[in-house]
Amino acid sequence: MLLRSLLDLFFPPLCAACEARHVGHGQCLCPACQAALPRTEHALHPDNAALALFRDNRRVQRAAAWCYYTDGTDFRLLVHKLKYHRCPWLGPSLGALAAADFLRQAPAWFAGIDFIVPVPLHRRRERSRGYNQAALIAQGIGRAAGLPVNTSCLVRTVDNPTQTQRTAEERRLNVEGIFSVRRPELLTGKHILLVDDILTTGATLRSCLAALQSVRGLRVSVFTLALARQTGSPLSPDSALSSGSIAR
Ligand SMILES: [Zn+2]
Repeated sequence: MLLRSLLDLFFPPLCAACEARHVGHGQCLCPACQAALPRTEHALHPDNAALALFRDNRRVQRAAAWCYYTDGTDFRLLVHKLKYHRCPWLGPSLGALAAADFLRQAPAWFAGIDFIVPVPLHRRRERSRGYNQAALIAQGIGRAAGLPVNTSCLVRTVDNPTQTQRTAEERRLNVEGIFSVRRPELLTGKHILLVDDILTTGATLRSCLAALQSVRGLRVSVFTLALARQTGSPLSPDSALSSGSIAR
């Protein structure tokens, strides 16, 4: 603690968005940048655009994304830093901020959930990146919402190529059958929160749901940090996808 205080004195933690000085251990954004986040307000609107992507699956209880993933926003830059620029510390911090927002707006949003399951990376991809950003986001959510995180019951068995520059149908085919369940007995009768970084077409999360389909009595809620805009197929030029930013 003393070392931390001394470090903060000489090297004050900077806001990951505006790089102005800010206060607060474990915080990655200054109050002004936190206030300016492009929130979806899904916590206040259970029947939202995220849930619409999973409405055909009766196991899905709730779905939400925290902020819009839009060109030119600091938030998009933050998610980029987390995903591609080796800033793993942003994951827990953004996850905790997101969960705190949800708890403030809809205190019951996490009620009934037994544990969090982050969307897994293939072990080869995780080794080369050094971390799974979804697992780090899940850690932050778990810390804020008081939920455990399980990274062993769902695995990615196929190292599929990137989703970048694919149409919605190509994305669906690209992730088909790439996940599998380990120790289904841990999941039987449970309500889990599937966590990912960016929600675009929902193809990856639907593939997770397909792998989980055989587990008896499982209920699933879905939470992502970001919601990418999508206005057509193939994804429109203004969407996050077309700039080649969504890769796994
Ligand atoms: Zn800032």
